[in-house]
Amino acid sequence: MTLTQLQDQSEEALKDRLAALKADYEQYRTKKLKLDMSRGKPSPEQLELSMPMLDVLSSKSDMKAENGVDTRNYGQLDGIPEAKRFFADLLEVETDEVIVGGNSSLNLMHDTIMRGMVFGFPESSAPWSKQGKIKFICPVPGYDRHFAICELFGIEMIQVAINEEGPDMEEVERLVREDDSIKGMWCVPKYSNPSGATYSDETVERLVSMETKANDFRLFWDDAYTVHHLTDEHDPLKNVLAAAKEAGQPNRPIIFASTSKVTFPGSGVSVIAASRDNINHFLKLMSSQTIGFDKINQLQHVRFFTEVEPLDAHMKKHAKLIKPKFELVLSTLEEKLGGKGIATWSKPNGGYFISLDIVDGAARKTVTLAKEVGVTLTGAGAAFPYGIDPRDRNIRIAPTFPSVDELKEALNVLCTCVEIASIEQLLATK
Ligand code: PMP
Repeated sequence: MTLTQLQDQSEEALKDRLAALKADYEQYRTKKLKLDMSRGKPSPEQLELSMPMLDVLSSKSDMKAENGVDTRNYGQLDGIPEAKRFFADLLEVETDEVIVGGNSSLNLMHDTIMRGMVFGFPESSAPWSKQGKIKFICPVPGYDRHFAICELFGIEMIQVAINEEGPDMEEVERLVREDDSIKGMWCVPKYSNPSGATYSDETVERLVSMETKANDFRLFWDDAYTVHHLTDEHDPLKNVLAAAKEAGQPNRPIIFASTSKVTFPGSGVSVIAASRDNINHFLKLMSSQTIGFDKINQLQHVRFFTEVEPLDAHMKKHAKLIKPKFELVLSTLEEKLGGKGIATWSKPNGGYFISLDIVDGAARKTVTLAKEVGVTLTGAGAAFPYGIDPRDRNIRIAPTFPSVDELKEALNVLCTCVEIASIEQLLATK
């Protein structure tokens, strides 16, 4: 078989190819595989990198923060000063524009939206839930858990395509200018989940300065992968809070991040950064929710990264472990699917995912075929609101968790299934 695009092949040639692929597929079935590429989790080797952090504190440690606050006791709702400084430096904001939270940024995002629904924001005429239908703009493909939050609160999701520069800004600007029920927009601005795209300077500038019909519109700026570079070539991202201030819209962005994929997912430290108005609004509401987050974990993280190991060096160790996995995905896709006209994929400089687009109508079939021979992929459609990919063509590849050998096997299965599903789809439409 030459690399002629499959669409251009005769029905007979396609049927021959399909028969050969199905024979390969049956071979996989006999292997009784049990491989999981479904979620973007760090591998056990990556988790090992952060084990020395657990030696930073012991029963002999001075547990006081630099302002004398005892981290073992209640208080300091906005976080200990050294943790606020650490995250303020990381996100290039001021220390009083930061609240250091608990173990999960998703938790902060959920609660921020819930506060919007129940109480509104400083400019809101009423809580969002009292303003009728509420809508969010959702760049797609995107992060399924963002969409799950919207679904939970009955927020209608409007899909906007994401390209290499970020979301389609013509469309975003048109939507927010005309509709005051659009209150928010999800953004994963760097090494986006799953497309890997980083928003261009122009995209950031347009997002902070665009005219919105709703005066309490917010950008939910989930900077989850801000330090997760794969190579020494880092995608630059414009500082959204500084740009928003310059555009006269300081309250528009709310930035979220965490150390989940830096240290330990589920036991990291999260952060929210925003204008002082927003921060004061959140602190007032949060003070009824908690007396303070886990300051011992904050202390442990800050002492590790400022006294033991710089963050950059730590992230390079992560990159060293996961870069070969990304390279394996890219070279396998090229080798097995390249030139056939049935697939395109992202080539990210960071983050946790590769986004694969195949023939329209073939993604669900691919994921089902893979599952049947023991390879679990992220559900088709997961990267779209309500779990429905309108073109049924996107598959999210999460290469970090499996070992290189497991990944190799899983990719062979994936590519076989992609080609089977694509040829069947082509034959059905011929
Ligand atoms: N945001 C994005 C874009 C993510 O991909 C993830 C993890 N998969 C999270 C947030 C979750 O972050 P956390 O562990 O801080 O809740």
